[in-house]
Amino acid sequence: MDLQEKLLNKKDELQKAIERKKDNLMITVRESTDELSMYDQHPADVASDLYEREKDAGLLEMMELELQKVNDALNRYQNGQYGICSICGRAIEPERLDRLVYTTQCIQCARQTKDNFTRPAEEDISFSGAMSDRGESFEIAGYDFYDPEN
Ligand SMILES: [Zn+2]
Repeated sequence: MDLQEKLLNKKDELQKAIERKKDNLMITVRESTDELSMYDQHPADVASDLYEREKDAGLLEMMELELQKVNDALNRYQNGQYGICSICGRAIEPERLDRLVYTTQCIQCARQTKDNFTRPAEEDISFSGAMSDRGESFEIAGYDFYDPEN
C-alpha cells in the first residue's frame, strides 16, 4: 500500500469514527435531557453520565485534530511536499512515515521539539499523572491515539 492510499484510508476511517461519535453524543444528550426532567434520577448517575459525555467530547476533539493532520498531509502530497521535514527540510525516514503517516517532522527534529516542550519540570509531575490517566481512558474507549513522536 502506498502512503497516499494509507492516508486516504486513515481519513476514511477517522471520518467514520467521528460520524459515529457525533451520533452517540447526540443520542446521549437527548436521552440525558429527558432523564434530567425526571426528578427521581440518582445524582451519581447524572454525574457519571456527564463524565462519560465529557470523555466522548474530548475523544471527538482528538479525532478531529487527527483528521486535520491527515488532510494537511494529503495537501502536502498534492504539492509534492509530503515526506519532507517542515523544520530542517530533509526527507523524513520512510519507516517513520510508514508508522506515523501524517507526520511533518523527521526523527531528529521531532526529538528536539519533544525535548523542548515535554520535558517535565518537577512541579508538573501531578499534571503529567493526570494526563496518563486520560491516556488510559482513551485506550479503554478502543481507539488508538498513542502518538509517541508528535
Ligand atoms: Zn528534520
